[in-house]
Order: sequence, then structure tokens, then C-alpha cells
Amino acid sequence: ANAGKSEGVPEWKRAIAPKDQPLGKRTNMSMKEQRESLPVYAFRDQLIKAVKENQILIVVGETGSGKTTQLTQYLDEAGFTNHGMVGCTQPRRVAAMSVAKRVAEEVGCELGQEVGYTIRFEDKTSPSTRIKYMTDGMLEREILIDPDVSRYSVIMLDEAHERTISTDVLFALLKKTLKRRPDLKVIVTSATLDADKFSEYFNQCPIFTIPGRTFPVEILYSREPESDYLDAALVTIMQIHLTEPSGDILLFLTGQEEIDTSCEILYERMKALGPNVPELIICPIYSSLPTDIQSRVFEPAPPGARKVVIATNIAETSITIDGIYYVVDPGFVKQNSYDPKLGMDSLIVVPISQAQANQRAGRAGRTGPGKCFRLYTEAAYNSELLPTTPPEIQRQNLAHVILMLKAMGINDLLHFDFMDPPPTNTMLEALETLYALSALDDEGLLTRLGRKMADFPMEPALAKVLIYSVDMGCSDEIMTIVAMLNMPTIFYRPKEKQTQADQKKAKFHDPHGDHLTLLNVYNAWKQSGFSSPWCFENFIQFRSMKRAKDVRDQLLKIMQRYRHPVVSCGRDTQKVRQALCSGFFRNAARKDPQEGYKTLVEGTPVYLHPSSALFGKQAEWVIYSTLVLTVKEYMHCTTSIEPKWLVEAAPTFFKVAPTDKLSKRKKAERIQPLYNKFATEDDWRLSAQRRGGR
Ligand code: ADP
Ligand code: MG
Repeated sequence: ANAGKSEGVPEWKRAIAPKDQPLGKRTNMSMKEQRESLPVYAFRDQLIKAVKENQILIVVGETGSGKTTQLTQYLDEAGFTNHGMVGCTQPRRVAAMSVAKRVAEEVGCELGQEVGYTIRFEDKTSPSTRIKYMTDGMLEREILIDPDVSRYSVIMLDEAHERTISTDVLFALLKKTLKRRPDLKVIVTSATLDADKFSEYFNQCPIFTIPGRTFPVEILYSREPESDYLDAALVTIMQIHLTEPSGDILLFLTGQEEIDTSCEILYERMKALGPNVPELIICPIYSSLPTDIQSRVFEPAPPGARKVVIATNIAETSITIDGIYYVVDPGFVKQNSYDPKLGMDSLIVVPISQAQANQRAGRAGRTGPGKCFRLYTEAAYNSELLPTTPPEIQRQNLAHVILMLKAMGINDLLHFDFMDPPPTNTMLEALETLYALSALDDEGLLTRLGRKMADFPMEPALAKVLIYSVDMGCSDEIMTIVAMLNMPTIFYRPKEKQTQADQKKAKFHDPHGDHLTLLNVYNAWKQSGFSSPWCFENFIQFRSMKRAKDVRDQLLKIMQRYRHPVVSCGRDTQKVRQALCSGFFRNAARKDPQEGYKTLVEGTPVYLHPSSALFGKQAEWVIYSTLVLTVKEYMHCTTSIEPKWLVEAAPTFFKVAPTDKLSKRKKAERIQPLYNKFATEDDWRLSAQRRGGR
């Protein structure tokens, strides 16, 4: 098993795997000294006093000043946790986990005891938990169940400048809760200067500023636009490493794939230089990375060596790595935005904003004077980058949020107290989506199905599939598939062994597509007794599988809590495909006689991914889970269906075209999306008022 293990893992990954020996000694300071050296420490008593005297407080401070890790502990030490927990929200999963781990170390407890965290599908807290880190999405869900958040004495909305949808919604929800609970405290923290806007929104509440401790950062721009920013970034890193004085490097990339590729290339280039150049320690960090490797980024490099941290924008503000003197900034970020043409959210790489660029540069000036290498021209910075990033709520699909708000009894969305209200069109589209999913009735009121869907912490389409699968008699299978869909990568396909990996994968292929293929993989793994050698033999990522199993267990708990029976369809997997249609009917596509497929909703050309189990097969009608935009718009996870299932699954969305002029054969094929349920803004406003109930 061990031989298989190292065989499946590329050399650069083995090189960065945690060793028994830590990278270097963390620091000479004791934990107490470290805590007391943070800028926030000098303001400890003033901060506690300010929280006692005000129900809402905005706290502004440079990244790394100690807001996230220290404030919660100060409040605990000051006795706030005697009557409820201190909850601290984070926009990102990794941050919630990594910060909780750190604070547990500082407090000196086991993670999950006095200090814990909750993220989707994972709850590491216990009855003794006093300080709880969580994603903002999880607190939103808690409010759905307990609008008074009665288990908390203080809630800290951390990283508020990120303006995620969930944080924005929490602003409005907690503002209401505060009126009902005069003893509740809310702290809103920000690394940037939106503080005035926050204060104004929260009834002119006071702003507490923690003075920063920063050094100047020299900004260097590219002279010409870079045609290949990845290569430019790696060249820059090598140059820094070989020519600049000591100090660690931080490179911002857009996602896991890019980060892994760069780590590999960098590792090979360093190896090619031979043993006479100083060591370069390569530390990737992104959310799906195992936590033991993640913690390595915090370890200082041993003397003589230099560390390069290759991160997503998580290292912009959510986590702070000490010792960075050089920042390499290609100027891009992966952003989730709603694409009306595709009718879905998609992750796309976009230029960062000027504010983000400056925040990134600032990471180089925490320990001493630093340098930031911007891989774009000064002209591009001035004329092409937006001053700030628009809040997520203005660019993303709101179906999930609206379903939650409706489930909380908030029907009058037009008058909901958003800090920056989403565009009316976006709201209308979300309402239309929920209506098509039968979560709302034609008056826009929550249906019983809709209320049930809101119990599931996932996009409405998936929640619908889960609920519908109970009626179809295949909830056992659908739970597995939903859990597997949650994993970014299941199959392992190293460059040197692609053919072998593909052959192994093909053994699991189901003739009806990728969802059932995922089911086959999971079931085979289960048969093996959830074995890890089995994964290595079959080029399957063991960690992803283990995580999928955890997610499945969590789903099972939710199903049981809300009394949705778990039933298996056995061999009759057609039911699974029908159940999938109940949520993903929007993602239906039909084979184009020329090439590829066309979506039914907008007629957008989309393509089967070569890795799909359906590739080379002649599936006429398909549904897919997501679209991945690379060279082409590829359907990701695709399953063949029969068109009539679409009409059965979403009768308000599809109709069969009138038959009179069509031959019988064509009848089943003429399926058209129905539109304009909530046709105009005025119509919608009318119905919104009608059900306003105020
Ligand atoms: P802020 O929230 O103001 O940006 P943090 O409380 O996150 O600041 O971080 C304060 C300091 O705690 C950082 O400068 C870093 O030195 C240390 N720190 C935070 N997380 C970790 C960790 N996981 N491991 C080691 N040190 C950490
Ligand atoms: Mg922080």
C-alpha cells in the first residue's frame, strides 16, 4: 500500500508534505509574548470598555493586528462568555478552521472544546465551547432556526469589508435582532476604510481604530503587459530568490489548479539549478488543502532558506503570514458571478480592484520595508482596475438567499434593509428560479416544498433534488451523488500516468453519464471497506472520498432530522436521473447537429468534457451540474435524460409545444422554457406589496 501511495503522489507534493521535523523553530517568543506583541494588545481594555458601552461597534485595523484571534479571547476573559458564546464569522471556510486552530492553541485547549468552529457539513464544537468561529453562511442558517441567536452574547462579523452575500444579509438580520435583544453585542470588523459606511448603516455607531504598524512598500510595475502571468510570476519569484536579500515571498494566484501547477514548475526549476543555490521552500495554500499542509505556511523557514507562499486571495486579509517581504501580484482573482447568459453562477477569473491591489501590496510591509511586484503596467492599474470590488450581492444569483429570507418570514424583499440592495432584475430572476423549482407559488409565497428546501444548506436546486428523490425512491443514491458533487476533485490524473488513470476511471463509467459514475465510484469504495489502498490503485483521491463520506453522513443527519426517508432504488438508476432533472432542468442541453450541445434555456453552445462518461456517446438530451469556462464552455458532470422528464419535473418552466403543426415524433422534442412569470418590475412590485403583510 505504501509503494502505491508514493507512486501516486508527484515528487513536488512529496517534497512539501509535512515532515516529522517542523520547518524551523516557530519563534523564540512564548505564546503569551506573541499575543502581547500584537498591535491590538495595547487597546485591550479600551476595546472591552467600548463593547460594554455600545451595542454595536465597528473595529478597523490592519490585517495582522490581531482582531480575529485576540478580540474573541479578550471578550472571553472579560466574562462575556458567562452568558452565551462569542461567535465570530468568517467569509471563508479555511479561515474559520485555521483561526480556530490557532486560538485553541493560544487558549491551550483541544480544538472543538472551549474553542471550536462550524463550517458547512462540519461541526467542531461541543457544549463547553465558548469561542466559536464559523462561516457567515452557517450563522445565517442558525438565525433561520433561532432568530434571536439566543446562544450568543457577542457576535463578531469579521472581514466585513469582503461584503459576501451572507455577511450583507447578516447585517440586516442582526440589526433587527439587536432591537429585540438589548443584551446582545455586535462587532463588525474591517481591514479597510469602509468603516464610515458601516457606521452610518448601523445607526451611527462608534468606530474603534487600531493604529497599524506598517513599513513602506516599494511598488514595481511591469513595463509591458504580460502575455502569460503565470510564467511571469514564476520568473519573478526565481529572480527575487536569487538576487534579493532574505525575506519570504507571497504570490497570489486564482485557484488550486494554478497553484498546484506553479508549485510543480517551481520545484522542477529549482531542482534544475542544482544544490548550490539556497533552498526555496514552497508552500501552497488553498481551501481544499489538507490542514497539516496548510499549517506549514505559518512555520518560519530555517536559516539560509527562503519560503514562498503561493496562495489564493485568502492571504489578502483572512489569514496573516509573518515574515513576508516580497509580494508578487499578477492582478487576478477568481470570482463567483452570475452569468445571465448561462443562467447560473460561475467562477471566472477577473482583474482585481485597486483596493485589492493595495491590500496585497500591504502584505509585504508587516515585518519591515518590502517590495511588491505588480505583473501589470501602471497604466493598467490606473485605468483598467476598478477602485473597489462591488459587493457580492450585486453580482451573484440570489435564489438561495431569497429562499432563506422567505423561510424566515421575510416576504417584503423590496423593503428589506440591505446595505446595498441588489439590482431588481437579479431579485426577479431569483424569484423566477424559485418559482420554477416550485419553492414559491404563483403569488411568490413560500410553498411547503420551499420550506423544506430551506432546511438544506445548499443551493436550492440540489435541495430540491434531495427532497424529490424521496418520492422517486432513490434518496440513498442521491445523497451519495450530492456528497460527491461537493468535492472539487475525485479522480487523480498525474501527467506521467494519464492513460493509466483514464483506463482506471473508465471502469467506473456508467453509460448514462457522470452522476451515476460518481455513484459507482463511491459504492465500489464502500465495498472495499472505505479503503485507502483501493483509492491509490484506482487513481481516486482518498482525501476527497473521506470528505465525501463525512458530507454524506451530515446529509443523512439532516434527512433524518427532518424525517425524509432514505430509500434505495437498487438497480433501477433511471430514477436517479429523473430525480436529478427535478433540480437541474435549467441545465438541460440538446445535441447540436453541427457540433457540441446547445442549452435549452438560452441556446448557448456548450460542450461535453473529454473526461465525461458520455464523451463519444450519442446522448441527445443531457443535463449538467455546472459549466466550466476554460477554452470552451464545458459541461461538468453530465447525464443523459429523456426530455419528457423535464416537463414532468418543472411543468411551470417547460411546456410541450403545441402539437397540431408537429409530427408525432417531434412532439416530445419541442420543449420550450416558459418565461415571464414575474414579468415586469411593476408586476412584481405589486405582488410584493400584496404579500407584504405590513
Ligand atoms: P487580523 O484579524 O487583525 O488580521 P489575526 O488575529 O488574524 O489578525 O492575526 C494576528 C497574528 O496572529 C498574525 O500576525 C500572526 O502572527 C498570528 N497568527 C494568526 N493565525 C496564525 C496561525 N494559524 N499560526 C501562527 N500564527 C498565526
Ligand atoms: Mg482577521
